[in-house]
Amino acid sequence: MAWDKAGCRCTTLNNPVPFRRRCYCVAMKDLVEKFQSLFQLHQDTLPWQPSPAQLQQLGELYIGICAGNQRLNLTRITTPEDFWEKHLWDSLAAIAPDLNLSITTKLIDVGTGGGFPAFPLAIAFPDWQITLLDSTRKKINFLNELSQQLQFTAHGIAERAEAIGHHPDHRAQYDLVTIRAVGKAAICSEYALPLLKVGGLAILYRGQWTPADTELLAPAIAQCGGTIEAIRTFTTPLTHSQRTCLYLRKTQPTNDQFPRPVGIPKQSPLASV
Ligand code: SAM
Repeated sequence: MAWDKAGCRCTTLNNPVPFRRRCYCVAMKDLVEKFQSLFQLHQDTLPWQPSPAQLQQLGELYIGICAGNQRLNLTRITTPEDFWEKHLWDSLAAIAPDLNLSITTKLIDVGTGGGFPAFPLAIAFPDWQITLLDSTRKKINFLNELSQQLQFTAHGIAERAEAIGHHPDHRAQYDLVTIRAVGKAAICSEYALPLLKVGGLAILYRGQWTPADTELLAPAIAQCGGTIEAIRTFTTPLTHSQRTCLYLRKTQPTNDQFPRPVGIPKQSPLASV
């Protein structure tokens, strides 16, 4: 990717404009230093620390997402600090080493939106095979363009989760499914579990979560061939908000009836959470 002299205008993305309207105009060097100091300051809260090359990629990701935000509604999070906490830290905190994920993990990020959590994971785990899924074609077109420019191997598909959940190229093909901010946990489970190989793991990124929610959700997960293996809570380091990740293990093939036809999981979720 090429930058103008101030380092705040990307000259290679389509229709580049200075990032003053919906994003902070920040020089790349300052941005990389800012991210570096945040990672160092909060290193005890994260299982991963970036190399200098990865810090540069994270800075390019920030600038690229801000560029996309000029024409697409990708994210409301635009200051570097917010982006670091709510997109970078939040995406990465869930991937603890004890998950024992292989270095060639095959991941699909369902409802990826602006590429989260998929893009930070593509930077942290460059050997993973990453698919970004979103139903909005213009978002996917942008993400594919950005992925190419940042030299990620991640590839986007514009489809509904309910549709690709029955497609032989995707059903039961993934080691890991991530899904953040796409809807109720029961809807996310119905989207995610059919895509996993038996033995694979789905991570549902949630906010607040209670034991009563777990009780309500468990039968819905069982219907789709999974179990709740772990629930981890996190406190975000800057704004001290609560995050919860649900780790679902697929224990048996998902019944052919799931996911149900487009729109049904949302209209009539398998559970009320
Ligand atoms: N995961 C991102 C994040 O956390 O920043 C984006 C979340 S955004 C609120 C939800 C995204 O899910 C939207 O981009 C929407 O198009 C996508 N989405 C919703 N339902 C979907 C479905 N059934 N299949 C595929 N994508 C879907």
